[in-house]
Amino acid sequence: MTQTVDTLFINAHVLTMDEKLTQYFPGAVAVKGDSIAAVGAEADIKKEYSAKETIDCGGKVLMPGLVNAHTHVPMTLLRGLADDLRLDVWLMGYMMPVEREYVSPEFVRLGTLLACAEQIRSGVTTFNDMYYFEQDVARATADAGLRAVCGQTVMKFPAPDAAAYEDSFAMAREFIKTWKDHALIVPAVAPHAPYTTTPEILRETAMLAKEFDVPLHIHLSETALEVENVRNEQNMPVVPYVKKQGLFEAKVIAAHCVHVDIGEIRTLKNHGAGVSHNPSSNLKLASGFAPIQKMLEVGLNVGIGTDGPASNNDLDMFEEVRLASFVAKTVSNDPTVVPAQTALTMATRLGAQALHLGHITGSLEAGKRADLILVDVSPIHNSPRFHRDPNNAYAQIVYAAKSTDVSDVMVNGQWLMRERRLLTLKEEELLEQAQDVARKIDAFLIEREQSVLSKLIALGGSREEESFEVQTKVKITEPDRVVQALKRPEIEITAFKHYRQFDNYFSFEDSAQGYLRFREDDLTDEKGETVSVRSRLTLVGQKRESQLEHDVLLSRSRFLAPALHTLRFYREYFTPKTEVAIEKDRLRWHIRYKDTEFFVNLDQVLKPDLGTFLEIKSRTWSRKDAENKARLTNELMELLGVADHEILLHDYVEVIRKEQMR
Ligand SMILES: [Zn+2]
Repeated sequence: MTQTVDTLFINAHVLTMDEKLTQYFPGAVAVKGDSIAAVGAEADIKKEYSAKETIDCGGKVLMPGLVNAHTHVPMTLLRGLADDLRLDVWLMGYMMPVEREYVSPEFVRLGTLLACAEQIRSGVTTFNDMYYFEQDVARATADAGLRAVCGQTVMKFPAPDAAAYEDSFAMAREFIKTWKDHALIVPAVAPHAPYTTTPEILRETAMLAKEFDVPLHIHLSETALEVENVRNEQNMPVVPYVKKQGLFEAKVIAAHCVHVDIGEIRTLKNHGAGVSHNPSSNLKLASGFAPIQKMLEVGLNVGIGTDGPASNNDLDMFEEVRLASFVAKTVSNDPTVVPAQTALTMATRLGAQALHLGHITGSLEAGKRADLILVDVSPIHNSPRFHRDPNNAYAQIVYAAKSTDVSDVMVNGQWLMRERRLLTLKEEELLEQAQDVARKIDAFLIEREQSVLSKLIALGGSREEESFEVQTKVKITEPDRVVQALKRPEIEITAFKHYRQFDNYFSFEDSAQGYLRFREDDLTDEKGETVSVRSRLTLVGQKRESQLEHDVLLSRSRFLAPALHTLRFYREYFTPKTEVAIEKDRLRWHIRYKDTEFFVNLDQVLKPDLGTFLEIKSRTWSRKDAENKARLTNELMELLGVADHEILLHDYVEVIRKEQMR
């Protein structure tokens, strides 16, 4: 008497990817409902089971579907938008500004459906996502029929789906409540990364994940810069820092872990954290090489992920598996490291374990869900075949097979692709809609890239502000006389500061854009030691508004903001035509003269060596006020004994540029 199942796969080369890496050839798999009823040699399974539908696999490889352990699926819609940039410029300069503008529930749904189509075609049956509007990612994924861990992003910056951290946190809670216990979707919370969150966010998201017993998905130790910053600010590496915030109270899935030491690897292992290794993303962004060999030796669950399609730029797990093996070999200078069977285990069973889904999927074993794929290993690029060593079968899949060799995909007992035909998605419609979105984003970026000001504003966290500056500048030879003159009773000194100032002026092809000044002010004490450092960004209008009484200048500054990024970041983001660097020692007095505030700067320009300048400055918002201030500036020049000096009508930057041109 045989048992009846729904589907019987026969005449297959079955790679179970179980603990013992059992293979059956010819093998068979029996599927009943959403689960695998039995796996074994074809003769044995046939004796025990009869089915409503029997599939003759024709010698194809039947194996568990691949697990994409880290991605951001809606970013299919941003694929190829900005490439060959450093991570910060790519993320803060392009991805986040475009996301703030375009990401909506509809965007996320379309992007997810596209990603599902691509992943089904390449044999992925489970993925681990992190994005905004994650409930829409979850809904689209469930509609497509794939299995996923969906992590709602939480961070300290305003996000496309939340104005503040509190909103995204509330959203994550609601999302988890709604989707808990779904057959395909595991809801999760995703504090984006240590550098985009706060200790409080890390603590609270860990408690939320613990409360509902769902995973917590985070980017950890992706770049050397991130590790360096955490070390500088927290005095410890990244893993101990997040541990201190109680992160490992939750079931953690850590993406990247490129720059972790052996102690950190052990901490991850001891707390049952899973890791996603993302070789394409790490290679493309030159983030470094994750020590996966060490992680595997320690027994860590290391899966493989594609990362988002905007930084890869595809969701092809066959490519990732191959790279995971190749990179590990090259980095360790040892070709025996991460052999094919290990790489494929990472992309299946270990990946599922890393996502805390090892009990459900990742291998073909009775009782697990029927998440499986058929791979045609007969194409020209994969012929002929050898059977002497059981590992030949893995080598064939990892080193020679292509994602397009996947012919059939089943998830949770449901067919998603039969003979390369998608059953749950309409590809042509999706492609058309995606091109529409791309056209809009293209137009937005083309417009933005035309203006330095709009590029600045796109970075966020800053404001546009227009003000005028009344200014005069003279070259002097006896600074001490000015210092003495400042003690005159007509002048009230309200503050005095000493700075070392480093200015970098960017200028652009179109001189009407003005120039952008990155200024670092190092405030120094009496001993000449640096007390504090602050950086500011100012977009200075090129056009002089006018010259007021006696050559006092009125100029316009269009934008002023604290510089949140490094000089290198702005250089790569704005790609200026020329750059001028100036270093000076500045003595600055805040004074009041006739009820009006002025700054008096005594600047010794050190690099290049230009000598000493006296500058009298005042800010104003009205033209009438400017004329009054110009008159007072002239009076001050008399008082300071420099009225007869030649007035410098240019900024240093122009002087230096003229020098350079000679
Ligand atoms: Zn990522």
